[in-house]
Amino acid sequence: MSDKKIPYKIYLEENEMPTQWYNVRADMQKKPAPLLNPATHQPCTAEELENVFCDELVKQELNETDRYIDIPEEIQEFYKMYRPSPLVRAYCLEKKLDTPAKIYYKFEGNNTSGSHKLNSAIAQAYYAKKQGLKGVTTETGAGQWGTALSMACSYFDLDCQVYMVKCSYEQKPFRREVMRTYGANVTPSPSDTTEVGRKILAEFPDTNGSLGCAISEAVEKATSQDGYRYVLGSVLSQVLLHQSVIGMESKIAMDKYGIKPDIIIGCAGGGSNLGGLISPFMGEKLRGEKDYKFIAVEPASCPSLTRGVYAYDFCDTGKVCPLQKMYTLGSGFMPSANHAGGLRYHGMSAVLSELYDQGLMEAVSVEQTAVFEAAQQFARVEGILPAPESSHAIKTAIDEAMKCKETGEEKTILFGLTGTGYFDMYAYGAYNDGRMSDYIPTDEELQKSFDTLPKID
Ligand SMILES: *Cc1c(COP(=O)(O)O)cnc(C)c1O
Repeated sequence: MSDKKIPYKIYLEENEMPTQWYNVRADMQKKPAPLLNPATHQPCTAEELENVFCDELVKQELNETDRYIDIPEEIQEFYKMYRPSPLVRAYCLEKKLDTPAKIYYKFEGNNTSGSHKLNSAIAQAYYAKKQGLKGVTTETGAGQWGTALSMACSYFDLDCQVYMVKCSYEQKPFRREVMRTYGANVTPSPSDTTEVGRKILAEFPDTNGSLGCAISEAVEKATSQDGYRYVLGSVLSQVLLHQSVIGMESKIAMDKYGIKPDIIIGCAGGGSNLGGLISPFMGEKLRGEKDYKFIAVEPASCPSLTRGVYAYDFCDTGKVCPLQKMYTLGSGFMPSANHAGGLRYHGMSAVLSELYDQGLMEAVSVEQTAVFEAAQQFARVEGILPAPESSHAIKTAIDEAMKCKETGEEKTILFGLTGTGYFDMYAYGAYNDGRMSDYIPTDEELQKSFDTLPKID
């Protein structure tokens, strides 16, 4: 099909929208390693997981065999409010870069959470409601997940208790107010409302908090209240499953115009948007039908895939969550204080970790000043102020497009533009003032953190 016929934005008709999520594990010959009970080191049973997570979500977490899982009608209806998300041909960026590459991005920032996280939040809230629960607890770092979940909970009339990493709580008061507007209860973490929070506060009274610590508090709060469960916005296989709606829509839209991406790029924090975007394409690769190059992009200051080890690790600081085999920097790892761009989780989705370990996916790390430079370049021509997280993918997409310029290759690049950056203006300010610096952890620092990994035989 000639290029001219491809619109700037490719939308789907309502009757073209996906009605099923795609479960990439079904097509993996070697599956991700099972979650282990942190006390016994035995694989977690469904019963154990059901103490923490909603029943139906436990089923999805453990389901490695069903390739497709129906999206319940109520969730499809909610998706219709803000989906399909546009697949945009970045004509203006291509022109600016003067590259022969064709660049597409799937933009997930068109909802109040400002990110893709609503795709899984609505699913998790739906299953909690269906189970008859009163509410859910969770953690949030930068705030997108907490916002998405508070939106989903208000839709289904569920109580929503959010532990927000203390430094974000203080730096992003507007995020907090958005969550409260949707009815959520927001507590800075660590707090004195949980045992684990009080313990951490006693040991480190001046701590700024961390995701791992907020997770421990949220889990404790869920398991100590009747009618509550804990929900998580990334990392878990169920979250990747829900996020496959991003990849399904992208694939339907591209197939419609006969476009095949050569390279698919996404930023990787816990791995949910990248996993969701690449899943249906990875399925084709796993089944030997088509080939694609997949690239995970992570911050050089929190490089779990590119410099981490593939091992069982704790998912949280308090060591109450199941152990997961993943690429990890160690659960005690803290990105340096000047790290501004999100994607600060110490580990990575078990599914993506396994795919990466099998050589089916590549990973690169990028430094934050280069990320903000790419963000600025993109904002100025494409009209969207990107989230710092998303800008990691922009940076690598631009790098790949510039390689095409050198070689003259007309590669098709697809990247995930996961969200908008309106709540990240302190970070943009630091960049604009020339106050932003890069920090790359030394091997010694990483080794110290690896030394804390649990010994599993
Ligand atoms: C949370 C978030 C990410 C990273 O999370 P993943 O689970 O790795 O996708 C990326 N971009 C935005 C805008 C986010 O809110």
